Amino acid sequence: NAYSSNPRLYKLLVITTVSGGGLLAISNSSAFADASQVDVKKKKVVVLGTGWAGTSFLKNLKDPSYEIEVVSPRNYFAFTPLLPSVTNGTVEARSIVEPIRNIVRKKKFDVQFKEAECYKIDTVNKKVHCKSTQDNNLGGTEEFTVDYDYLVIAMGARVNTFNTPGVVEHAHFLKEIEDAQRIRRSVIDCFERASLPNITEEERKRILHFVVVGGGPTGVEFAAELHDYVIEDLAKLYPALEEHVKITLLEAGDHILNMFDKRITVFAEEKFQRDGINLKVGSMVTKVSEKEICTKERATGQTVSIPYGMVVWSTGIGTRPVVMDFMKQIGQTNRRVLATDEWLRVEGCDDIYALGDCATINQRRVMEDISAIFNKADKKNTGRLKVDDFKEVINDICERYPQVAIHLKKKQLKNFNNLLKNSQGDDELDIEKFKLALSEVDSQMKNLPATAQVAAQQGEYLAECFDKMDACEKNPEGPLRFRATGRHRFHPFRYQHFGQFAPLGGEQTAAQLPGDWVSIGHSTQWLWYSVYVSKLVSWRTRMLVISDWGRRFVFGRDSSRI
Ligand code: FAD
Repeated sequence: NAYSSNPRLYKLLVITTVSGGGLLAISNSSAFADASQVDVKKKKVVVLGTGWAGTSFLKNLKDPSYEIEVVSPRNYFAFTPLLPSVTNGTVEARSIVEPIRNIVRKKKFDVQFKEAECYKIDTVNKKVHCKSTQDNNLGGTEEFTVDYDYLVIAMGARVNTFNTPGVVEHAHFLKEIEDAQRIRRSVIDCFERASLPNITEEERKRILHFVVVGGGPTGVEFAAELHDYVIEDLAKLYPALEEHVKITLLEAGDHILNMFDKRITVFAEEKFQRDGINLKVGSMVTKVSEKEICTKERATGQTVSIPYGMVVWSTGIGTRPVVMDFMKQIGQTNRRVLATDEWLRVEGCDDIYALGDCATINQRRVMEDISAIFNKADKKNTGRLKVDDFKEVINDICERYPQVAIHLKKKQLKNFNNLLKNSQGDDELDIEKFKLALSEVDSQMKNLPATAQVAAQQGEYLAECFDKMDACEKNPEGPLRFRATGRHRFHPFRYQHFGQFAPLGGEQTAAQLPGDWVSIGHSTQWLWYSVYVSKLVSWRTRMLVISDWGRRFVFGRDSSRI
């Protein structure tokens, strides 16, 4: 290894051995040449996707000893939290994207990029099958395969329509840059069409009825952005139409923003009411046709038809077909997304990692494994264990699952600690009670949300694992901060939540910060501005976004239909 990493030393040895003469020199040199060839061959890491998870992995990876190949149908990274601002021109689409080649150019090692989409993962031959996706006239699609030693799946998710008829054909989504650009054009289309002569009053009202489906953060932010656009800009340009404009937000549950603190939900609902945004909760969309959207109202049980001019569908995410196909291949058929362990390895596939929206850490598996450890220790199958044996089992579990150790250390498993407090020595403990107490871990380690924050942290974590992989192999006992104890080389992924924003329009934002600290209002909007600017991936995009905001303050939004 020392020779392969130091070519001069290697040459010197070959020369001295050769000058020593004879057969020995030849056999030595060839042995070293073989060893060096084996060592020099870089492990190939294929990254699928250039979104939050894939880009964060790429940006943070420092070890030049890998050969990296990135495959994604988008040759750019998009800063999704600002997508709703693109729908009305508050910021321009190009201001929130960074070409992926700009990012890889800055790496100190070679990174290949292919603009294509992966359509099949072949785990047996360690290959991914890809096809180019350029929708231009450059000669159609091209198919190719890419070999990998390690595969990083960061393909994100697709929009979930819940198989509602007509959604794909008639509704807009808000997931990609192109979606936001289409919405921007469509809003202007509606206003221009409604301005034409010979349009009946009823038809005008229909065309200017904007319906948003889904009361999550994206749907709420879009509705708020659209309202601002109408009030601040379009009302001045189309004064005769203002009274006909209606924005409706449909939510199947009882409240909007239900993942936020109750105070934020209440504030948002009251603000929308004050702003004249028509909020309908308990309203489940059953069908979307060309000009009408059908809903089933929970309160009355009635089906209602709502005429609309434009509908935006934002009801959550689903699994991409290629990921679904891969899940079938590896026997994860009954899951919604790919299950990984706490080290982000896909369950059952040692060299494949999955992160971001397309994956989730399988907590149920942890509990099953813990159960199995208990059962193994209970050799006589009595359902009871002596305290000393029990402590051994707990040590084993803690070594395998550091998060259990963390919870025990922080005394977060109250029932567990209470049960143990009063027992000693030869006492026998009821395994079931302890298993039940340990299952508190489950509820405390809820599935991670599908957010950019999680995806970016996972990308950073995985890059650190890859950076340290080689060092750990060469020096298993070395003092590495990142190393975990026991049979795992690294500590498991731990998510750190920094809070969440919900922009509500009118220069007001709600924020739920760690420790359930809630902040709402104009000052929080300034916090939102500064956090998002700091999170943009480059100085170029930062400058562009700040200048877009400045332009909007001075001149208003651009309403040309281009
Ligand atoms: P993505 O960022 O979606 O990236 C997936 C990548 O995979 C893309 O590059 C895609 O082109 C590529 N890909 C797709 N198919 C293939 C294929 N077949 N082969 C190869 N590559 C493929 N989160 C927050 O934390 N805060 C926010 O404020 C916030 N706001 C949001 C606003 C909107 C409008 C949206 C849509 C999302 C928002 N999110 C927010 C969520 C956040 O964007 C996602 O959680 C995040 O993008 C997930 O990252 P990812 O890398 O898993 O997937």
